[in-house]
Amino acid sequence: MSGIQAVRGMNDLLPGERVRLWHRVESAIRELTSLYGYQEMRTPVLERTELFKRSIGEQTDIVEKEMYTFTDTGGDSLTLRPEATASCVRAGIQHGLFHNQQTRLWYMGPMFRHERPQKGRYRQFHQFGAEAFGWDGPDVDAELIIMSSQLWALLGIGRITLELNSIGSPAARAEYRERLVGYFGERKAELDDDSQRRLGSNPLRILDSKNSEMKTIIEEAPQLADYLDDESKTHFDGVKERLNRAGIDFRINQRLVRGLDYYTRTVFEWTTDLLGAQSAVCGGGRYDLLVEQLGGKPTPATGYAIGLERLIELVSLQGGGEEEGATDIYLALLGETAELEGVVIAHQLRTEGYSVVANCGGGNLKKQMKRADRSGASMALIVGDDEINAGTVVIKPLRGVGTQVTVERDSIQSSISGFLVEEN
Ligand code: AMP
Repeated sequence: MSGIQAVRGMNDLLPGERVRLWHRVESAIRELTSLYGYQEMRTPVLERTELFKRSIGEQTDIVEKEMYTFTDTGGDSLTLRPEATASCVRAGIQHGLFHNQQTRLWYMGPMFRHERPQKGRYRQFHQFGAEAFGWDGPDVDAELIIMSSQLWALLGIGRITLELNSIGSPAARAEYRERLVGYFGERKAELDDDSQRRLGSNPLRILDSKNSEMKTIIEEAPQLADYLDDESKTHFDGVKERLNRAGIDFRINQRLVRGLDYYTRTVFEWTTDLLGAQSAVCGGGRYDLLVEQLGGKPTPATGYAIGLERLIELVSLQGGGEEEGATDIYLALLGETAELEGVVIAHQLRTEGYSVVANCGGGNLKKQMKRADRSGASMALIVGDDEINAGTVVIKPLRGVGTQVTVERDSIQSSISGFLVEEN
């Protein structure tokens, strides 16, 4: 085909059922965040490349291979954000949000990663994330996890599992790291190229490898749990205790280290068996070092991000049902005066809160009624020049409620209610 196509891995969202699912998920997110007292934050999709190099880490898949980076005409290296935690931290430092303050934030929007596109994995995708800055205890980690589980409840999702781990303090990780370098160093020949490189820079990330040929060597590696410091253990117990009290099931997954370098202590992931290979719906954890790493004062922080494409796919498989109301009224206008007066009628009805699709482009009654049917409206209001002269309108039910009537124009509103079809 010679026409211009969308960029590979970037999707158009066309009008229809799918958009309604997006709306439903977005409203559930707004409801959820307000139930938990989190405040929305919006940051630019473009940031300085340096931000992601310093936060996510140079030796990560994202920074090494997946970023959309370019130099603008002013010579600055800029990157389309691959995730938004770094942006929240950058904005928080820049605007003094963390200055002696504790703050709960959320964001939602598009992210960009140059990955190999497949079902559930795109180059432009969307995330909703929540972040809490200024608390270092297990209470807020648990709050975030409970909050994410409430989103599943709000959306009617059942088949989703929580995996949990603690990756400890930086000191404990350093000790474990040494142990791991020793272990992988002895079996270097079994490592793939990426992992051999990471052995010197970030050996923990070898555990995160998706290469199935390295499954055994990873399974037999030393376990981080054996190196956890006492404070991290107590912290982790505090998280587990609260989840138990909240009735949230979880599975400890020792191999869960998360792809990003800035995590400390609690890490978690929600996965499902309904989405094939791309099973992770939500990932999160504590990242106490990031704010300082990006030039702010030391500020403990914790958060998560949910992939909206995967969540919406899950809702369509499990949560089902559309909720949003269709159009109330299709306004059919026949004749020159009616077309002009239609502007006034439509405006009045919309001011009263009815959704109105007004006929545009003329057409005879038959044509307009066809359009009315296609619009999905509950009823048609038919206004011709005769009706204008008589001060009336015709109400014609389109979806099986009541029979056609002619009513006074002054009493449209009281007559309409009997014809509305409620969505459920
Ligand atoms: P991450 O920022 O990598 O921890 O990812 C958090 C969540 O975002 C994942 O659990 C996925 O649901 C989603 N996600 C990450 N990468 C992609 C992608 N390329 N396409 C679609 N969703 C993604």
